[in-house]
Amino acid sequence: MKTDNVAYTPFSGWIDPPGDVRPALGADVTCEVAVVGGGLAGMSTALRLAERGRDVVLLDAEFCGHGSASRNAGQVAGAPGGDMQLLGLLYPKRFPRVVRVAENAAHHVEGLIERLDIDCDYEATGNVLTAVSRGQMGRVRRVARLLEKAGAKVELGTSEELGIPRGFLGGLRESVGGLMNPGKFSLGIRRAVLASGARVFEQTRVTDVRQNGDQVVVRTPGGEVRAQQVVLATNAYGGELAIAPKRLSAPIWVTEVETEPIDPARLAALGWTSRSGVVTQHNVMENYRLTSRDTIVFGVRRLQRARAHPLPPRQPDEAVVADLARAFERRFPALADVAAARAWGGWVAITSSWLPVAGKVGDNVFYSAACVGHGLAQAPYVGSLIADLIVDGEQHEDLRSIWAQKPKFPPPLMMGPLGLRTVWAVDRFNDLINGSGGNARRGTA
Ligand SMILES: Cc1cc2nc3c(=O)[nH]c(=O)nc-3n(C[C@H](O)[C@H](O)[C@H](O)COP(=O)(O)OP(=O)(O)OC[C@H]3O[C@@H](n4cnc5c(N)ncnc54)[C@H](O)[C@@H]3O)c2cc1C
Repeated sequence: MKTDNVAYTPFSGWIDPPGDVRPALGADVTCEVAVVGGGLAGMSTALRLAERGRDVVLLDAEFCGHGSASRNAGQVAGAPGGDMQLLGLLYPKRFPRVVRVAENAAHHVEGLIERLDIDCDYEATGNVLTAVSRGQMGRVRRVARLLEKAGAKVELGTSEELGIPRGFLGGLRESVGGLMNPGKFSLGIRRAVLASGARVFEQTRVTDVRQNGDQVVVRTPGGEVRAQQVVLATNAYGGELAIAPKRLSAPIWVTEVETEPIDPARLAALGWTSRSGVVTQHNVMENYRLTSRDTIVFGVRRLQRARAHPLPPRQPDEAVVADLARAFERRFPALADVAAARAWGGWVAITSSWLPVAGKVGDNVFYSAACVGHGLAQAPYVGSLIADLIVDGEQHEDLRSIWAQKPKFPPPLMMGPLGLRTVWAVDRFNDLINGSGGNARRGTA
Protein backbone atom coordinates (compact mmCIF):
# COMPACT_ATOMS: atom_id res chain seq x y z
CA MET A 1 0.00 0.00 0.00
CA LYS A 2 1.41 3.38 -0.98
CA THR A 3 1.56 5.93 1.84
CA ASP A 4 3.65 8.64 0.21
CA ASN A 5 0.72 10.83 -0.78
CA VAL A 6 -1.45 10.73 2.32
CA ALA A 7 -3.33 13.91 3.25
CA TYR A 8 -2.88 14.29 7.01
CA THR A 9 -6.10 15.91 8.19
CA PRO A 10 -6.05 17.80 11.51
CA PHE A 11 -9.84 17.42 11.91
CA SER A 12 -11.69 14.48 10.32
CA GLY A 13 -11.66 12.67 7.00
CA TRP A 14 -15.45 12.33 7.03
CA ILE A 15 -16.61 15.95 6.76
CA ASP A 16 -15.41 19.56 6.63
CA PRO A 17 -15.94 21.72 9.72
CA PRO A 18 -19.36 23.45 9.77
CA GLY A 19 -19.55 26.84 8.07
CA ASP A 20 -21.84 28.36 10.70
CA VAL A 21 -19.74 28.11 13.86
CA ARG A 22 -21.55 30.00 16.64
CA PRO A 23 -19.97 32.99 18.41
CA ALA A 24 -18.28 32.66 21.78
CA LEU A 25 -19.93 33.56 25.04
CA GLY A 26 -19.39 37.30 25.47
CA ALA A 27 -21.26 38.12 28.70
CA ASP A 28 -22.40 36.54 31.96
CA VAL A 29 -25.52 34.37 31.68
CA THR A 30 -27.63 32.22 33.97
CA CYS A 31 -29.43 28.98 33.15
CA GLU A 32 -30.84 25.86 34.75
CA VAL A 33 -28.27 23.44 33.31
CA ALA A 34 -24.89 24.16 31.69
CA VAL A 35 -23.32 21.41 29.57
CA VAL A 36 -19.56 21.57 29.06
CA GLY A 37 -18.36 19.92 25.82
CA GLY A 38 -20.34 19.56 22.62
CA GLY A 39 -19.43 16.03 21.57
CA LEU A 40 -22.08 13.34 21.15
CA ALA A 41 -22.56 13.11 24.92
CA GLY A 42 -22.87 16.86 25.46
CA MET A 43 -25.03 17.57 22.40
CA SER A 44 -27.40 14.71 23.31
CA THR A 45 -27.66 15.89 26.91
CA ALA A 46 -28.40 19.47 25.81
CA LEU A 47 -30.88 18.38 23.14
CA ARG A 48 -32.80 16.14 25.50
CA LEU A 49 -32.90 18.80 28.22
CA ALA A 50 -34.13 21.43 25.75
CA GLU A 51 -36.76 19.03 24.38
CA ARG A 52 -37.93 18.46 27.93
CA GLY A 53 -38.31 22.18 28.57
CA ARG A 54 -35.14 22.94 30.50
CA ASP A 55 -33.24 26.20 30.10
CA VAL A 56 -29.85 24.88 28.92
CA VAL A 57 -26.53 26.39 27.82
CA LEU A 58 -24.04 24.27 25.82
CA LEU A 59 -20.39 25.35 25.61
CA ASP A 60 -17.71 23.95 23.32
CA ALA A 61 -14.08 25.03 23.07
CA GLU A 62 -14.06 24.73 19.25
CA PHE A 63 -17.41 23.73 17.74
CA CYS A 64 -19.90 20.98 18.49
CA GLY A 65 -18.60 17.78 16.94
CA HIS A 66 -14.96 18.89 16.83
CA GLY A 67 -13.74 15.93 18.91
CA SER A 68 -14.01 12.14 18.53
CA ALA A 69 -17.68 12.64 17.67
CA SER A 70 -16.79 13.38 14.02
CA ARG A 71 -13.49 11.51 13.82
CA ASN A 72 -14.37 7.96 14.82
CA ALA A 73 -14.57 4.96 12.49
CA GLY A 74 -18.36 5.01 12.37
CA GLN A 75 -18.83 1.44 13.64
CA VAL A 76 -21.94 1.48 15.84
CA ALA A 77 -21.13 -1.33 18.28
CA GLY A 78 -23.78 -3.46 19.93
CA ALA A 79 -21.34 -4.85 22.52
CA PRO A 80 -18.96 -3.29 25.07
CA GLY A 81 -15.42 -2.22 24.14
CA GLY A 82 -12.20 -3.57 25.61
CA ASP A 83 -11.27 -7.19 26.29
CA MET A 84 -14.64 -8.83 26.92
CA GLN A 85 -13.10 -12.01 28.35
CA LEU A 86 -11.37 -9.91 30.98
CA LEU A 87 -14.50 -7.84 31.64
CA GLY A 88 -16.54 -11.06 32.05
CA LEU A 89 -13.95 -12.40 34.47
CA LEU A 90 -13.55 -9.21 36.54
CA TYR A 91 -17.20 -8.16 36.59
CA PRO A 92 -19.30 -11.35 36.22
CA LYS A 93 -22.47 -9.76 37.64
CA ARG A 94 -22.08 -6.42 35.90
CA PHE A 95 -21.07 -7.76 32.49
CA PRO A 96 -24.59 -8.72 31.29
CA ARG A 97 -25.84 -5.27 32.33
CA VAL A 98 -23.06 -3.56 30.40
CA VAL A 99 -23.90 -5.68 27.34
CA ARG A 100 -27.50 -4.50 27.64
CA VAL A 101 -26.34 -0.87 27.87
CA ALA A 102 -24.35 -1.34 24.63
CA GLU A 103 -27.30 -2.90 22.79
CA ASN A 104 -29.77 -0.28 24.02
CA ALA A 105 -27.29 2.44 23.06
CA ALA A 106 -27.10 1.17 19.47
CA HIS A 107 -30.91 1.10 19.26
CA HIS A 108 -31.05 4.60 20.75
CA VAL A 109 -28.75 5.91 18.00
CA GLU A 110 -30.84 4.21 15.32
CA GLY A 111 -33.89 5.92 16.84
CA LEU A 112 -32.14 9.32 16.80
CA ILE A 113 -31.18 8.94 13.14
CA GLU A 114 -34.79 8.20 12.27
CA ARG A 115 -36.45 10.79 14.52
CA LEU A 116 -34.10 13.63 13.57
CA ASP A 117 -33.99 12.48 9.93
CA ILE A 118 -30.17 12.45 9.86
CA ASP A 119 -28.65 11.47 6.53
CA CYS A 120 -25.48 9.68 7.73
CA ASP A 121 -25.34 6.66 5.38
CA TYR A 122 -26.41 4.34 8.21
CA GLU A 123 -26.39 0.61 7.36
CA ALA A 124 -27.70 -1.89 9.96
CA THR A 125 -25.00 -4.44 9.11
CA GLY A 126 -23.89 -5.33 12.63
CA ASN A 127 -20.15 -5.64 13.26
CA VAL A 128 -17.95 -8.72 13.34
CA LEU A 129 -15.39 -9.48 16.04
CA THR A 130 -13.01 -11.27 13.77
CA ALA A 131 -9.97 -13.53 14.05
CA VAL A 132 -6.74 -13.41 12.06
CA SER A 133 -5.23 -16.51 13.70
CA ARG A 134 -6.40 -19.76 15.28
CA GLY A 135 -5.58 -18.29 18.71
CA GLN A 136 -7.85 -15.32 18.01
CA MET A 137 -10.58 -17.70 16.79
CA GLY A 138 -10.46 -19.44 20.20
CA ARG A 139 -10.89 -16.05 21.83
CA VAL A 140 -13.83 -15.28 19.52
CA ARG A 141 -15.57 -18.53 20.59
CA ARG A 142 -15.08 -17.73 24.27
CA VAL A 143 -16.42 -14.21 23.79
CA ALA A 144 -19.41 -15.61 21.85
CA ARG A 145 -20.25 -17.86 24.81
CA LEU A 146 -19.96 -14.93 27.21
CA LEU A 147 -22.17 -12.68 25.06
CA GLU A 148 -24.78 -15.41 24.60
CA LYS A 149 -24.83 -16.04 28.33
CA ALA A 150 -25.38 -12.29 28.78
CA GLY A 151 -28.41 -12.52 26.51
CA ALA A 152 -26.88 -11.06 23.31
CA LYS A 153 -27.72 -12.42 19.87
CA VAL A 154 -24.50 -13.38 18.09
CA GLU A 155 -23.68 -15.35 14.96
CA LEU A 156 -20.50 -17.43 14.92
CA GLY A 157 -19.00 -18.50 11.59
CA THR A 158 -16.22 -18.61 9.05
CA SER A 159 -15.46 -15.55 6.93
CA GLU A 160 -17.54 -17.04 4.11
CA GLU A 161 -20.50 -17.71 6.38
CA LEU A 162 -20.31 -14.18 7.79
CA GLY A 163 -19.76 -12.53 4.40
CA ILE A 164 -16.47 -10.87 5.35
CA PRO A 165 -13.18 -10.85 3.40
CA ARG A 166 -11.06 -14.03 3.21
CA GLY A 167 -8.10 -12.27 4.88
CA PHE A 168 -9.95 -13.03 8.13
CA LEU A 169 -10.53 -16.57 9.40
CA GLY A 170 -14.00 -16.00 10.80
CA GLY A 171 -15.59 -14.44 13.82
CA LEU A 172 -18.80 -13.53 15.55
CA ARG A 173 -21.29 -10.97 14.37
CA GLU A 174 -22.95 -8.69 16.90
CA SER A 175 -26.26 -8.39 15.12
CA VAL A 176 -27.15 -5.05 16.77
CA GLY A 177 -25.56 -1.89 15.29
CA GLY A 178 -23.85 -1.17 12.01
CA LEU A 179 -21.99 1.48 10.04
CA MET A 180 -22.40 5.20 9.49
CA ASN A 181 -20.58 8.35 8.44
CA PRO A 182 -19.99 9.73 11.97
CA GLY A 183 -19.18 13.21 10.67
CA LYS A 184 -22.60 13.50 9.05
CA PHE A 185 -24.23 12.05 12.18
CA SER A 186 -22.49 14.58 14.39
CA LEU A 187 -23.48 17.46 12.07
CA GLY A 188 -27.07 16.15 12.17
CA ILE A 189 -27.19 16.18 15.98
CA ARG A 190 -25.57 19.64 15.98
CA ARG A 191 -28.26 20.92 13.60
CA ALA A 192 -30.96 19.57 15.95
CA VAL A 193 -29.34 21.20 19.01
CA LEU A 194 -29.03 24.56 17.23
CA ALA A 195 -32.71 24.36 16.26
CA SER A 196 -33.76 23.47 19.82
CA GLY A 197 -34.21 25.94 22.65
CA ALA A 198 -30.65 25.33 23.89
CA ARG A 199 -28.31 28.34 23.88
CA VAL A 200 -25.11 27.18 22.17
CA PHE A 201 -21.77 28.98 22.51
CA GLU A 202 -18.93 27.60 20.41
CA GLN A 203 -15.27 28.79 20.42
CA THR A 204 -15.79 28.96 24.21
CA ARG A 205 -13.24 27.07 26.29
CA VAL A 206 -14.34 26.46 29.86
CA THR A 207 -11.40 27.22 32.15
CA ASP A 208 -12.95 26.43 35.52
CA VAL A 209 -16.09 24.93 37.06
CA ARG A 210 -16.72 25.76 40.70
CA GLN A 211 -19.52 24.91 43.12
CA ASN A 212 -20.77 28.01 44.93
CA GLY A 213 -23.53 27.19 47.41
CA ASP A 214 -26.38 25.65 45.45
CA GLN A 215 -25.11 27.17 42.20
CA VAL A 216 -22.26 26.20 39.89
CA VAL A 217 -20.10 28.86 38.25
CA VAL A 218 -18.64 27.97 34.87
CA ARG A 219 -15.80 30.30 33.84
CA THR A 220 -14.86 31.09 30.25
CA PRO A 221 -12.65 33.89 28.84
CA GLY A 222 -15.69 35.91 27.70
CA GLY A 223 -18.03 35.53 30.70
CA GLU A 224 -19.42 33.26 33.40
CA VAL A 225 -22.36 30.88 33.30
CA ARG A 226 -24.23 30.49 36.59
CA ALA A 227 -26.21 27.26 36.57
CA GLN A 228 -28.19 25.14 39.01
CA GLN A 229 -26.59 22.02 37.55
CA VAL A 230 -23.64 21.28 35.28
CA VAL A 231 -22.87 18.27 33.09
CA LEU A 232 -19.21 17.65 32.21
CA ALA A 233 -19.12 15.97 28.79
CA THR A 234 -15.57 16.69 27.74
CA ASN A 235 -14.61 13.05 27.08
CA ALA A 236 -10.81 12.64 26.88
CA TYR A 237 -10.28 16.35 27.70
CA GLY A 238 -11.90 15.88 31.15
CA GLY A 239 -8.60 16.09 33.06
CA GLU A 240 -8.21 19.73 31.99
CA LEU A 241 -10.81 20.80 34.56
CA ALA A 242 -9.88 20.66 38.26
CA ILE A 243 -13.42 19.63 39.27
CA ALA A 244 -13.37 16.46 37.10
CA PRO A 245 -12.67 13.29 39.13
CA LYS A 246 -8.95 12.52 39.27
CA ARG A 247 -7.84 9.61 37.08
CA LEU A 248 -11.34 9.26 35.56
CA SER A 249 -9.72 8.23 32.31
CA ALA A 250 -6.48 8.20 30.34
CA PRO A 251 -6.47 10.27 27.13
CA ILE A 252 -5.33 8.08 24.24
CA TRP A 253 -4.69 9.11 20.61
CA VAL A 254 -6.17 6.79 17.96
CA THR A 255 -5.51 6.94 14.20
CA GLU A 256 -7.76 6.11 11.22
CA VAL A 257 -6.73 5.87 7.55
CA GLU A 258 -8.90 5.90 4.42
CA THR A 259 -7.95 4.36 1.09
CA GLU A 260 -8.40 6.03 -2.26
CA PRO A 261 -11.71 5.02 -3.99
CA ILE A 262 -11.54 1.38 -5.10
CA ASP A 263 -13.08 -0.05 -8.26
CA PRO A 264 -16.47 -1.55 -7.16
CA ALA A 265 -15.66 -4.78 -9.07
CA ARG A 266 -12.50 -5.22 -6.98
CA LEU A 267 -14.47 -4.55 -3.79
CA ALA A 268 -17.09 -7.09 -4.85
CA ALA A 269 -14.33 -9.68 -5.39
CA LEU A 270 -13.42 -9.46 -1.68
CA GLY A 271 -16.53 -11.43 -0.73
CA TRP A 272 -17.52 -8.71 1.76
CA THR A 273 -21.20 -9.39 1.05
CA SER A 274 -22.50 -8.59 4.55
CA ARG A 275 -20.68 -5.20 4.56
CA SER A 276 -20.35 -5.69 8.35
CA GLY A 277 -17.51 -3.69 9.89
CA VAL A 278 -14.78 -5.88 11.37
CA VAL A 279 -12.57 -5.54 14.44
CA THR A 280 -9.77 -8.02 15.13
CA GLN A 281 -9.16 -9.77 18.44
CA HIS A 282 -5.66 -8.39 19.02
CA ASN A 283 -5.02 -6.86 22.45
CA VAL A 284 -5.42 -3.57 20.59
CA MET A 285 -7.84 -4.14 17.75
CA GLU A 286 -7.51 -3.32 14.08
CA ASN A 287 -10.76 -2.06 12.54
CA TYR A 288 -11.80 -2.23 8.87
CA ARG A 289 -15.00 -1.01 7.24
CA LEU A 290 -16.43 -0.20 3.85
CA THR A 291 -17.80 3.28 3.18
CA SER A 292 -20.53 4.53 0.88
CA ARG A 293 -17.81 6.23 -1.22
CA ASP A 294 -16.20 2.89 -2.21
CA THR A 295 -13.26 3.26 0.12
CA ILE A 296 -12.11 1.28 3.16
CA VAL A 297 -11.49 3.06 6.47
CA PHE A 298 -9.16 1.22 8.83
CA GLY A 299 -7.27 2.02 11.99
CA VAL A 300 -6.45 1.75 15.72
CA ARG A 301 -3.77 -1.07 16.18
CA ARG A 302 -1.51 1.37 18.00
CA LEU A 303 -2.61 3.56 20.95
CA GLN A 304 -0.60 6.64 21.92
CA ARG A 305 -0.78 8.33 25.31
CA ALA A 306 -1.01 12.11 25.73
CA ARG A 307 1.95 13.46 27.67
CA ALA A 308 -0.05 16.01 29.67
CA HIS A 309 -3.13 18.17 29.71
CA PRO A 310 -4.22 20.29 27.88
CA LEU A 311 -4.47 17.84 24.97
CA PRO A 312 -2.64 19.30 21.98
CA PRO A 313 -4.19 19.47 18.50
CA ARG A 314 -2.31 16.88 16.47
CA GLN A 315 -2.16 14.81 13.29
CA PRO A 316 -1.36 11.12 12.96
CA ASP A 317 2.30 10.04 12.94
CA GLU A 318 3.60 8.85 9.58
CA ALA A 319 5.11 5.76 11.26
CA VAL A 320 1.70 4.75 12.68
CA VAL A 321 0.06 5.21 9.27
CA ALA A 322 2.82 3.07 7.69
CA ASP A 323 2.22 0.36 10.33
CA LEU A 324 -1.53 0.40 9.64
CA ALA A 325 -0.81 0.19 5.90
CA ARG A 326 1.29 -2.95 6.45
CA ALA A 327 -1.60 -4.56 8.33
CA PHE A 328 -4.01 -3.55 5.53
CA GLU A 329 -1.82 -5.32 2.95
CA ARG A 330 -1.86 -8.44 5.05
CA ARG A 331 -5.65 -8.48 5.50
CA PHE A 332 -6.35 -7.43 1.89
CA PRO A 333 -3.52 -8.87 -0.24
CA ALA A 334 -5.60 -8.35 -3.41
CA LEU A 335 -5.65 -4.60 -2.68
CA ALA A 336 -1.95 -4.20 -1.90
CA ASP A 337 -1.59 -1.68 -4.77
CA VAL A 338 -4.37 0.59 -3.43
CA ALA A 339 -3.04 3.85 -1.96
CA ALA A 340 -3.84 5.36 1.43
CA ALA A 341 -5.47 8.71 0.65
CA ARG A 342 -5.94 10.40 4.02
CA ALA A 343 -5.37 9.95 7.72
CA TRP A 344 -6.75 11.58 10.82
CA GLY A 345 -7.08 10.78 14.49
CA GLY A 346 -8.66 11.79 17.75
CA TRP A 347 -8.56 11.43 21.51
CA VAL A 348 -10.47 8.66 23.27
CA ALA A 349 -10.88 8.27 27.04
CA ILE A 350 -9.98 4.88 28.54
CA THR A 351 -11.03 4.14 32.13
CA SER A 352 -9.09 1.99 34.56
CA SER A 353 -12.01 -0.48 34.68
CA TRP A 354 -12.40 -0.49 30.86
CA LEU A 355 -16.10 0.13 31.51
CA PRO A 356 -18.12 3.22 30.60
CA VAL A 357 -18.64 5.51 33.60
CA ALA A 358 -21.04 8.24 34.67
CA GLY A 359 -21.51 9.85 38.05
CA LYS A 360 -21.76 12.98 40.12
CA VAL A 361 -19.35 15.31 41.95
CA GLY A 362 -21.11 16.90 44.93
CA ASP A 363 -24.82 17.61 44.53
CA ASN A 364 -24.99 19.34 41.20
CA VAL A 365 -22.12 18.43 38.84
CA PHE A 366 -22.66 15.35 36.68
CA TYR A 367 -20.02 13.74 34.51
CA SER A 368 -20.41 11.37 31.64
CA ALA A 369 -17.23 10.08 30.16
CA ALA A 370 -15.10 7.31 28.94
CA CYS A 371 -17.05 5.02 26.71
CA VAL A 372 -13.70 3.34 26.13
CA GLY A 373 -13.45 3.92 22.41
CA HIS A 374 -17.02 2.65 21.92
CA GLY A 375 -18.82 5.91 22.51
CA LEU A 376 -20.38 6.45 19.09
CA ALA A 377 -23.54 4.80 20.40
CA GLN A 378 -22.90 4.88 24.14
CA ALA A 379 -21.94 8.57 24.55
CA PRO A 380 -25.24 9.93 23.15
CA TYR A 381 -27.25 7.30 25.01
CA VAL A 382 -25.62 8.00 28.37
CA GLY A 383 -25.92 11.75 27.69
CA SER A 384 -29.68 11.48 27.19
CA LEU A 385 -30.04 9.27 30.31
CA ILE A 386 -28.26 11.95 32.38
CA ALA A 387 -30.68 14.56 30.98
CA ASP A 388 -33.60 12.34 32.05
CA LEU A 389 -32.07 11.92 35.50
CA ILE A 390 -31.84 15.71 35.86
CA VAL A 391 -35.47 16.20 34.80
CA ASP A 392 -37.08 13.20 36.53
CA GLY A 393 -34.76 12.78 39.50
CA GLU A 394 -34.74 9.05 38.79
CA GLN A 395 -32.03 6.86 37.32
CA HIS A 396 -32.75 4.61 34.36
CA GLU A 397 -31.48 1.09 35.13
CA ASP A 398 -28.90 1.36 32.31
CA LEU A 399 -27.45 4.49 33.92
CA ARG A 400 -27.41 2.66 37.26
CA SER A 401 -25.34 -0.10 35.61
CA ILE A 402 -22.46 2.29 34.86
CA TRP A 403 -22.89 4.71 37.79
CA ALA A 404 -19.81 5.35 39.97
CA GLN A 405 -20.96 5.67 43.60
CA LYS A 406 -17.93 7.84 44.43
CA PRO A 407 -15.84 9.94 42.04
CA LYS A 408 -12.70 7.98 42.95
CA PHE A 409 -10.74 5.92 40.43
CA PRO A 410 -7.49 3.92 40.54
CA PRO A 411 -4.79 4.74 37.98
CA PRO A 412 -5.34 2.97 34.64
CA LEU A 413 -2.86 0.10 34.14
CA MET A 414 -0.64 -0.31 31.05
CA MET A 415 -1.79 3.08 29.75
CA GLY A 416 1.61 4.81 29.95
CA PRO A 417 3.68 5.20 26.76
CA LEU A 418 5.85 2.18 27.68
CA GLY A 419 2.84 -0.02 28.53
CA LEU A 420 1.12 0.86 25.26
CA ARG A 421 4.27 0.19 23.25
CA THR A 422 4.63 -3.17 24.99
CA VAL A 423 1.03 -4.15 24.15
CA TRP A 424 1.68 -3.20 20.49
CA ALA A 425 4.89 -5.30 20.48
CA VAL A 426 3.09 -8.32 22.01
CA ASP A 427 0.42 -8.11 19.28
CA ARG A 428 3.11 -7.93 16.57
CA PHE A 429 5.01 -10.88 18.13
CA ASN A 430 1.80 -12.95 18.15
CA ASP A 431 1.17 -11.94 14.54
CA LEU A 432 4.67 -13.05 13.64
CA ILE A 433 4.43 -16.49 15.23
CA ASN A 434 0.92 -16.98 13.83
CA GLY A 435 1.95 -15.76 10.38
CA SER A 436 -0.90 -13.23 10.57
CA GLY A 437 0.78 -9.94 10.87
CA GLY A 438 2.20 -7.79 8.12
CA ASN A 439 5.98 -7.56 8.44
CA ALA A 440 6.54 -6.91 12.13
CA ARG A 441 10.34 -6.71 11.64
CA ARG A 442 9.80 -3.68 9.46
CA GLY A 443 7.59 -2.12 12.17
CA THR A 444 8.92 1.24 13.19
CA ALA A 445 5.84 2.62 14.91
C1 LIG B 1 -10.14 7.63 15.65
C2 LIG B 1 -11.29 7.17 16.50
C3 LIG B 1 -12.04 6.05 16.10
C4 LIG B 1 -13.15 5.65 16.86
N1 LIG B 1 -13.96 4.67 16.38
C5 LIG B 1 -15.11 4.37 17.04
C6 LIG B 1 -16.05 3.46 16.48
O1 LIG B 1 -15.91 2.99 15.35
N2 LIG B 1 -17.15 3.14 17.23
C7 LIG B 1 -17.38 3.69 18.46
O2 LIG B 1 -18.38 3.35 19.10
N3 LIG B 1 -16.54 4.61 18.98
C8 LIG B 1 -15.42 4.97 18.30
N4 LIG B 1 -14.58 5.91 18.81
C9 LIG B 1 -14.89 6.51 20.12
C10 LIG B 1 -16.01 7.55 20.06
O3 LIG B 1 -15.83 8.44 18.99
C11 LIG B 1 -16.01 8.33 21.39
O4 LIG B 1 -16.14 7.39 22.46
C12 LIG B 1 -17.14 9.32 21.51
O5 LIG B 1 -17.25 10.15 20.38
C13 LIG B 1 -16.82 10.17 22.75
O6 LIG B 1 -17.84 10.97 23.15
P1 LIG B 1 -18.07 12.47 22.69
O7 LIG B 1 -18.49 12.46 21.26
O8 LIG B 1 -19.00 13.06 23.65
O9 LIG B 1 -16.62 13.15 22.84
P2 LIG B 1 -15.91 14.27 21.96
O10 LIG B 1 -16.41 14.33 20.60
O11 LIG B 1 -14.43 14.07 22.15
O12 LIG B 1 -16.40 15.62 22.68
C14 LIG B 1 -15.74 16.32 23.64
C15 LIG B 1 -15.99 17.80 23.32
O13 LIG B 1 -15.63 18.57 24.45
C16 LIG B 1 -15.06 19.78 24.00
N5 LIG B 1 -14.24 20.30 25.09
C17 LIG B 1 -13.17 19.71 25.65
N6 LIG B 1 -12.68 20.46 26.66
C18 LIG B 1 -13.48 21.55 26.73
C19 LIG B 1 -13.49 22.71 27.56
N7 LIG B 1 -12.59 22.90 28.53
N8 LIG B 1 -14.45 23.64 27.35
C20 LIG B 1 -15.38 23.48 26.39
N9 LIG B 1 -15.41 22.39 25.58
C21 LIG B 1 -14.47 21.46 25.74
C22 LIG B 1 -14.26 19.37 22.76
O14 LIG B 1 -14.03 20.49 21.89
C23 LIG B 1 -15.17 18.32 22.15
O15 LIG B 1 -16.03 18.85 21.16
C24 LIG B 1 -13.47 6.34 18.08
C25 LIG B 1 -12.70 7.44 18.48
C26 LIG B 1 -11.63 7.86 17.70
C27 LIG B 1 -10.85 9.07 18.11
